[in-house]
Amino acid sequence: MASPSAARVVIVGGGIVGTSVAYHLSKLGWRDVLLLEQGSLSCGTTWHAAGLVGQLRSSSNLTRLIGYSVELYSHLEAETGQSTGWKRCGSVSVARTAERMIQLKRNASVANSYGIEAHVISREEAAARYPLMRIDDLVGAVWIPGDGKANPADITQALARGARAGGARLMESVKVTGVRIERGAVAGVETTAGPIATEILVNCAGMWARELGRMSGVAIPLHACEHMYIVTQPIAGVAPDLPVLRDPDGHIYVKEEVQGLLMGGFDPWAKPWGTESIPEGFSFQTLKEDWEKFDVLMRNALIRLPDLETAQVRTFMNGPESFTPDNYFILGEAPEVRRYYVGAGFCSGGIAAAGGAGRALAEWIVADRPPMDLWQADIRRFAPFHADRRFLRERVSEVVGVHYHIAFPNRELTSGRNLRRSPLHDRLHARRACFGAKMGWERANWFAPEGVTPEPVYSFGRQNWFPYSAAEHRATREAVAVFDQTSFAKLRLEGADAESVLQRLCANDVAVPVGRVVYTAMLNERGTFESDLTVTRLAADAYLIVTGSAQATRDADWIRRHLPAGARAVLTDVTDAWAVIGVMGPRSRELLARVSDAELGNRAFPFGASKEIRIGSATVRASRITYVGELGWELYVPIADAASVYDELDRAGRDLGRRDAGYYAMESLRMEKAYRAWGREVTIDDTPWEAGLGFAVRLDKPAPFLGRDALLAERDRRPTKRLLTFVLEDDAALPWGDEPILRDGRIVGSVTSAAFGHTLGRAVAMGYVKDPGGIDEAYVEAGRFELDIGGDRVAARASLQAPYDPRAARVKS
Ligand SMILES: Cc1cc2nc3c(=O)[nH]c(=O)nc-3n(C[C@H](O)[C@H](O)[C@H](O)COP(=O)(O)OP(=O)(O)OC[C@H]3O[C@@H](n4cnc5c(N)ncnc54)[C@H](O)[C@@H]3O)c2cc1C
Repeated sequence: MASPSAARVVIVGGGIVGTSVAYHLSKLGWRDVLLLEQGSLSCGTTWHAAGLVGQLRSSSNLTRLIGYSVELYSHLEAETGQSTGWKRCGSVSVARTAERMIQLKRNASVANSYGIEAHVISREEAAARYPLMRIDDLVGAVWIPGDGKANPADITQALARGARAGGARLMESVKVTGVRIERGAVAGVETTAGPIATEILVNCAGMWARELGRMSGVAIPLHACEHMYIVTQPIAGVAPDLPVLRDPDGHIYVKEEVQGLLMGGFDPWAKPWGTESIPEGFSFQTLKEDWEKFDVLMRNALIRLPDLETAQVRTFMNGPESFTPDNYFILGEAPEVRRYYVGAGFCSGGIAAAGGAGRALAEWIVADRPPMDLWQADIRRFAPFHADRRFLRERVSEVVGVHYHIAFPNRELTSGRNLRRSPLHDRLHARRACFGAKMGWERANWFAPEGVTPEPVYSFGRQNWFPYSAAEHRATREAVAVFDQTSFAKLRLEGADAESVLQRLCANDVAVPVGRVVYTAMLNERGTFESDLTVTRLAADAYLIVTGSAQATRDADWIRRHLPAGARAVLTDVTDAWAVIGVMGPRSRELLARVSDAELGNRAFPFGASKEIRIGSATVRASRITYVGELGWELYVPIADAASVYDELDRAGRDLGRRDAGYYAMESLRMEKAYRAWGREVTIDDTPWEAGLGFAVRLDKPAPFLGRDALLAERDRRPTKRLLTFVLEDDAALPWGDEPILRDGRIVGSVTSAAFGHTLGRAVAMGYVKDPGGIDEAYVEAGRFELDIGGDRVAARASLQAPYDPRAARVKS
């Protein structure tokens, strides 16, 4: 087949992901779809995958993606006539420890709330399902009947056949050697078969995706690691319907393969591969056997399956697969180049995810927006520094093992740290801060007292930092606390049209006098959130936009792509120019008054005001605003002055009960006050009405804003989905997020965030509840609410309001 000179969309890569995108684009009615594969279909990573399809993921939307894969794979053979090897054999996951069992129980509860059948079973019941397994050292197990297995190369062929039937062209032995970009958008590709004009490129190049992206200045942070399994000769008692077995404490998975066993796993510290480049012509190839590295898996497999001792190994498979810095795949339109899409970095879950991810990406391309909240997978969660080879090489070695880590709340990765540090870092370190990482920043989570090591000890119960964070929380409510919030993303929009650009993008009115801070949503045309942030008017023609640390790339991208052609407005990321010191608590005014001559009283400095003040020799911007629900100021301090301002506050605050406080305290404080967080309570699936943030929407402002029409259409409807707050009645219960919410015994939603509220003395949670009959005060009052925490139902008091109201100085619980 001669290569065409143009196509509506060009997909690079004929693995399971690229073919799935082609299949789904053609299902959506796109005919002029061209897929280019440098070798043969499935020749990269796909052909040697083990073929396990497990459905449970950490968010409802990612779980939905895989749920769809299962649905697709079960009928693809009938649809295309190409065998797929799909078998719904179920899966058994076992726990060797009590902590693992807690995780399995929590997973089962979450799975059930997402509509996936999952049963907590005893070890004896597990043995009945998997007779070859040794069980005397097990605590219990979970059985998911809908999980299955498939033949990855056959699924790829079936998707390809389906795509071709829908009119797509799939060409093998054609390599994409470059991407032509014009005016910031895709214009065509260079290939070994000549140039092809196209306006849409989809990079599904697997472990090659990073290099392909780099050619066009697109950062795609992924790196290959070696992944190994063995396959044995037939073993007595192994039949095709044997479930998939996962023993995560032993780092292993096992599946039936031609009546023998395929056993592989996730090495706790894996071997990166292909850092410099992937060898030319790497097609249907494997890597060298490495029995030494495989030893930990083999030893654990022998514990679980004693019959392996005498089994003959037929194949040792070592293949490369790409992993990302956070173990989630990468999907979506790259912020650097318009209409450059990516579907790559599947972290050893590409067979399970390809059906759903391929469909989501195809829908994203057709509609030019994501079909649902896919923030965890969204390419804009990264910044260019994440694609640094040295960082990736170090990080992915750890990420492989994360698969089978116990998913303790707040678990931090230990590799690839210290990428970005606040100017206060050394001071906070000296104060015994325990740091966590967000968007590359090291941030103090909590401070250890003398004699306590500032390191987390993980568990599903109260972790070791609980009492120290509680003290920071109390200091904020009762005295004054200092937070280092330097990691905030900060953007400056400047120019004669800055106001009109922001008025169009923001749901709140930002045409305010100089020196005002406005909390606002940015919405899309459907009236759902693209971000929530604060906008400070610095001058008639300049605004400071402050947003969450993780939202830097995403929000800058959203604003840039909505700058009208010819607009006199320039957006600059000024994150690294400013430290942010939060001074929060009832004595914050007293503390600031000791270090500054500025007038800080309510009249001179009301809530929402922002002014330059002097602290010592530094000029800082003080904004009266809070995320903890107390009197307080955020101080925007030039990086060079940050240490001296911090020291001044330190000296002046000693007798005021001043304390350093970290992000865990901020979390418990904001939860009591029901302040929403991006990615949890605020996503592209939610409107301000549903999120209870209508107060920050100005439908009546003179300039119409993006999303206004959609909001107007919804305004007078009885909402069928709303964010509720919960205070748990049992003061020992501890939810961490994702728990199912029940009303009168029926699942009606799941928890978006949770924390222990130290002022309330109970855990607090937020979560969306859905009911087709509508949700109002009466609905909330009339219901009996519970959270399902790993199978235990805990009664909770639900409300549409924040559980803690500092102005009324009372607790609603
Ligand atoms: C040993 C092993 C076991 C695994 N087991 C499982 C499992 O049980 N379950 C599961 O869900 N996942 C599993 N995986 C992961 C799964 O195989 C991958 O996530 C999935 O195959 C990735 O598919 P892909 O399409 O992104 O990449 P690939 O299959 O690598 O496809 C990318 C394609 O792009 C082509 N390409 C690259 N550059 C260019 C270019 N410039 N021009 C044209 N073409 C180009 C390549 O030739 C390649 O064919 C396993 C992986 C390994 C290594």
